[in-house]
Amino acid sequence: MPGNRKQRYLQHNKYNMSVFELLLQIIAPHHCLNCGLEGFLLCPACVRKLPDVPPRCYRCHLPSSQGRTCTACNKHSPLYAVTAATPYRHAAKDLIHNLKFERAQAAAADIAAALARRLDLAGVGCITYIPTAPARVRSRGYDQARLIARALSRRTGLPCYRLLGRTGNRRQVGAGAAERKLQAELAFYSRGAGRAAGLHVLLVDDVLTTGASCEAAAQVLLRAGARRVSAAVFALADAPKNKKPKL
Ligand SMILES: [Zn+2]
Ligand SMILES: [Zn+2]
Repeated sequence: MPGNRKQRYLQHNKYNMSVFELLLQIIAPHHCLNCGLEGFLLCPACVRKLPDVPPRCYRCHLPSSQGRTCTACNKHSPLYAVTAATPYRHAAKDLIHNLKFERAQAAAADIAAALARRLDLAGVGCITYIPTAPARVRSRGYDQARLIARALSRRTGLPCYRLLGRTGNRRQVGAGAAERKLQAELAFYSRGAGRAAGLHVLLVDDVLTTGASCEAAAQVLLRAGARRVSAAVFALADAPKNKKPKL
């Protein structure tokens, strides 16, 4: 990689890398998952090419401006709006996989860049994130949602606070809808959420499937005094048919 570009790359990503990763990057740089360009996990040109998710209500998928939750779904959801950068497939899926399983923390900066381009931040007072389960953070060495939130904070200038804790309860695979909802509600607790009192909080996560985790976390923040909670997720997965919300 030419000296200048390598310098720019390291500058771009240095906040998101561990020392080990930084060293590895110098010895064996990443290649863009989409076009193969050296020095990026997903290069800026390919980040710009990620397909959009049309602005829509995340629950019923009806078109809505800025991803606002529609009037009908509002009755069932604590989320004011959900913005997703891109559908959960192709390069976006590879990027998330790298972030979660390949120790490639640099992906957080690319993800934050893709999100920032699509977000309406008018009125938003602070950023927080859905904490990853403690056992996973221990085995991975980092919390990927926190990395994205912090990268987004640096990009937007909005403060990023840790407002939520997560219990160690394991989710039961195959649990019924009501039980899943209860498990999600029990998963989060307020942790210094007083800082969010009166604020419109932006809740960051990597992927949104049914929205149950985001809804449960938003509920905790609202109870702790937040004025409004919106979610920003990098990728939007299609909810499995049996998990689609009922109106
Ligand atoms: Zn590329
Ligand atoms: Zn709706």
